[in-house]
Formats: sequence, structure tokens, C-alpha cells
Amino acid sequence: MYQDPTTTIEHLYSGTPVYRNELIGLLKCNDPYILDLLYKKADLVRQEIYGTDVYIRGLIEFTNYCKNNCYYCGIRRDNKAVVRYRLTTDHIMSCCEEGYNLGFRTFVLQGGEDGYFTSDKICHIVRSIKSAYPDCAVTLSVGEWSRSDYQAFFDAGADRYLLRHETACEEHYRKLHPSEMSLEKRKECLFNLKDIGYQIGSGFMVGSPFQTLDNLVDDIFFLAKLKPHMIGIGPFITHKDTPFSGEKSGTLDMTLKLISILRLSHPKALIPATTALGTIHPNGRELGLKAGANVVMPNLSPVDVREKYTLYDNKLSTGDEAAQSLESLKTSIANAGYEIVVDVGHSKVDK
Ligand code: SAH
Repeated sequence: MYQDPTTTIEHLYSGTPVYRNELIGLLKCNDPYILDLLYKKADLVRQEIYGTDVYIRGLIEFTNYCKNNCYYCGIRRDNKAVVRYRLTTDHIMSCCEEGYNLGFRTFVLQGGEDGYFTSDKICHIVRSIKSAYPDCAVTLSVGEWSRSDYQAFFDAGADRYLLRHETACEEHYRKLHPSEMSLEKRKECLFNLKDIGYQIGSGFMVGSPFQTLDNLVDDIFFLAKLKPHMIGIGPFITHKDTPFSGEKSGTLDMTLKLISILRLSHPKALIPATTALGTIHPNGRELGLKAGANVVMPNLSPVDVREKYTLYDNKLSTGDEAAQSLESLKTSIANAGYEIVVDVGHSKVDK
């Protein structure tokens, strides 16, 4: 049955269950008046819970070695054009020191799945950061591990874990990843992380190759079941040295629509306006905030390695994406009507 998109927005806003055909109708909608209503409602919900606060996370990309071969990703194993690097613990600690002085109270350690960084090494890094900065949160984004390794990181002090499911549809997952990877494993990791007690983040790329509107609805439904504390979505962006070099990138509009839908369905979640969104449009970050996002993750990695962590072409790491430009970022965000706060910024999603 056709449902007009305005009614769907009302359903999302009031927490009434929405059906697949309603969501498809809204995802197809290009009426600027209706989309404006969607963004406004999402912003209203975000302001009810989080006011105009924007939380900042210092992103430290500590290794670009990766044993995986995801077809979309620029740091995939088979990309021989990447200059690989790893940061030492000392290096990571100096990134945190710089970040702390700038006002960051969350550090996100992200990397490829790099066998050099054993579970013990990761625990050591987490412990070092938590003992130097007990008032800060440590977020890990280091891919798939066994439940006991996740438990060890948690016991070492890690507070949060980001692991995007990438796509909730088995058939689509197969088209984005080689056969040694599995959606089932990815989901199992997410449920383990949640069970251990992490604040978890999941999400997906918008406009990844072969993605259909039905796939996006699967993603929305999967997140409704998982109930993550954080939801990270951003447009897929082509990388020239991957099997998807000839594919189109995702769009600003579709990403904004999804940010709003996810904000309405997860009022208390932390939702970043991602670097990928800032990369596809000069105003992407601010538009993401206006559509319901409430987190930004500037880059705290050492300047000389930033261009080597190229998940996709033209990835931003300078200007307002650089932690060092926080003052300028504060101004852009203030101009959009929000305020960067110095706060650990835990999620308000119930445990
Ligand atoms: N190895 C970690 C971190 C991956 S990089 C992990 O497996 O979780 C972080 C995210 O970047 C990925 O989850 C993916 O959704 C996104 N990403 C990778 N390649 C991309 C591309 N070409 N365009 C947009 N986002 C991409």
C-alpha cells in the first residue's frame, strides 16, 4: 500500500512502527519540501535529547596494514599502491596528548586488521591511554576478533567499539567482500561486543555498489534490532586502486535522508557527520548535523601518515577535518547553529 512520505515522517517521529513500503517511499522522495520537513523533525528530536551539543572524537588511524580484501576499501590487502605505516605506542600517546590539550575527551583508535597488533599490544595501548587520561573514553575500531579478545580489550579499559555491519543483506554482503568474510561473523561480533558491555557503533555505506533501496531498508531494520549506541553512515566513495574503481559514489541527499531516518528511529544514538560526508560536499558536515547528526570526528593522526590512510579518493584530513583546526571547525559548527563541547560525550542509549 502506498503511504505518503509526510505520514511516514509522522510515524517515525511518533515511534509508530514503519513498514518496508513506507521507508522505500521516503527513500525515493525527492520533494524538497518534504525532505526539509524530514530534516527539521530529525533535528527537533536530536535537540530534545542532546540540545545543540556536538561531541568531538579524536580519530587516530594507527595502522593501514590490513589482512582483509574488501572490494571497496583503499587499504585492502591487494592494493600494492598504498605506502603502509604503523604508529608506535609513543606516537599514539603523543597524538592523545595533543588531542587532550585541544579539548578532546574521546580517542578513537582505528586501523586495518593488522596482525602485528596482537591482542596484547592493543590492550597495552588501551591501558596506556586510560592511565594517562582517566577522564577520557577510548573507542576501538579494529575489526573482527574473538569474544575473548574483545573481553580483554574491555578489561584493559576500552569503552566503545565501532564495527559497521556494512550491509545487512547477505547477498549484497557477498558482492562487497571476498568469500573468506561473512556477514554472520560480523553480526556475531556486534552482539558479542554489546553483550560484553561496550557502547557499540555500527552502520553502513550509502550508495555502495549493487545497493538497492531494499538493502537500505534491511540496514534500517537491522539497526532497529541491534539498538547500537552509535550509528556511523557515510557515502561510499570510489577509490581508484580497488575493484570498484569504476563505480559511482553515493550521494549527499541519500545520506542525509538516512541520517534523519536513523535519528528519528534512534533518538538517543550518537550519530556522526562523517568525514566521507564532508568529502563529497563542501558543506556536508554541517548539513549532516542539521539532518540529525551530533558528533564529528576530526583527524588526530600524525600529519605525515594522513594521506596514507586513504579509504577512498580525496579523503579529507586537512582543513576542518584536522584536529589542529578545531577553532575553525568550532566556527563552522557555530554558524550552523550548534556548539562543540568538551565532554566525554557518552551515549544516552539505555544499556
Ligand atoms: N578495519 C576496521 C575499520 C575499517 S575503516 C573495520 O573493519 O571495522 C572504517 C569504515 O570506512 C569501514 O567500516 C567502511 O564502512 C568505511 N569505508 C571503507 N572504504 C570506503 C569507501 N571506499 N568509501 C566510503 N567509506 C569507506
